[in-house]
Amino acid sequence: MDMEEEISRIRKEVENCRKCELWKTRKNPVPGEGPLLPKVMFIGEAPGFNEDAKGRPFVGRAGEVLDNALEAIGLERKEIYITNVLKCRPPGNRDPKPEEIRNCTPYLDRQISLLRPGIIVTLGNFATSYILEKFGFKADGIGKVHGKIFGVSNLLIRAKILPMYHPAVILRNSNLFENFMEDFRVLKTLMQK
Ligand code: URA
Ligand code: SF4
Repeated sequence: MDMEEEISRIRKEVENCRKCELWKTRKNPVPGEGPLLPKVMFIGEAPGFNEDAKGRPFVGRAGEVLDNALEAIGLERKEIYITNVLKCRPPGNRDPKPEEIRNCTPYLDRQISLLRPGIIVTLGNFATSYILEKFGFKADGIGKVHGKIFGVSNLLIRAKILPMYHPAVILRNSNLFENFMEDFRVLKTLMQK
């Protein structure tokens, strides 16, 4: 299978998707972006206002928090793949609904099996519980699992999963900033292995 072709097929399918009601209120779908051989795959929750306006992931204030943390460990955006559990913005940034997650995650699953990232960083509770459960782990709350490494090795993928706080939470609760940066240092160490 040609990777470029499959990536653009996923993009087109997301652009035309009507599998849940979120297509009705979105301005632009946000399929995700990054190189075909990413050093790390980051998975957020869902597009927010700015992402919906631009059709690109993490381009608002949460994106700035993420960019600063990446810079602190010497990682560039162009080296990572970024996407979300949901590809369309929930109105008013409400939480994703279970049926939206069910309908949308086949796209994420295809992105993962295509790119086969060696490291997956999940941002926040929704991405973390989806990914940990998908690979057979018990998903405790993000306060408990952030900064811990979950190894996956099966026929389809060999990866390390590293849950982190969602950068939007860091904006609301600056007490968590140090935890967030510490988890990025864990990521840096992981990349050096
Ligand atoms: N929050 C997310 O979870 N994803 C984005 O792309 C932007 C903000
Ligand atoms: Fe389709 Fe996902 Fe958008 Fe729902 S959120 S319309 S499932 S792409």
